[in-house]
Order: sequence, then structure tokens, then C-alpha cells
Amino acid sequence: MTWTCKKTQLFIDDYLEGKLPVRDRFAYEAHVETCPGCREYFDRTSAFIQVVHQMGAITRSPHQIPQKVLDEAARLPIERQLLLGEIVSRDLEEEHQRLERMGKAQKKTNPAKPN
Ligand SMILES: [Zn+2]
Repeated sequence: MTWTCKKTQLFIDDYLEGKLPVRDRFAYEAHVETCPGCREYFDRTSAFIQVVHQMGAITRSPHQIPQKVLDEAARLPIERQLLLGEIVSRDLEEEHQRLERMGKAQKKTNPAKPN
């Protein structure tokens, strides 16, 4: 199977979460090893994802980070990535809390129908 640069960006979160089938994993690694552009993208983006993970336990999955943000982060120097990671994890936490509050409010007003 031919791996493309587009796929490197598309599947980076699946790869980092170990969700890719073994064959795709090998193709992914082989491409990143031989393609300097993808190698840089991968290094920067995986570093950014780790930063976001460390900052907020709330961010359980890189899927929660919009692709736009990942692409943006991949172009930034590491100090800016840290800043962006901070903002993203704060945003995700607020969103999570908002959803939790909504969930609780719904249970209160509609106790007979939990779904
Ligand atoms: Zn590539």
C-alpha cells in the first residue's frame, strides 16, 4: 500500500493512539522515515500532542484536538506550541465541564428519561 503525505497528517492521531492496523503502521513509519517533510510534521505534532496530554488529563484523545490546530502547531516553534497547547487544553476542559453541567441539568429536569 502506498502511503502519502496527506495520510501522514490524516492518521497521526490514530497512529499515536495505536489504532492503525499493523500493515498501516509499518507503511506509516516507513514513509515518515524516508520523507523529511512528514518527519518534521510528525516530530512536531507528536510533541505538541504530548504537551497537551501532560497539561490536561481531560484531553484523553488527540481526536479531541481539531486537525486545524494540529496543522497550525506543526508549523510553530516549540515555545509557541507550548502556549497553544495550554490554550487548547483549557478550551477542551471548559467544553468538557460545560457538557457535564448540561448532562446534570438534563438529569434534574428529566429524571424519568435518562436517554
Ligand atoms: Zn511525506
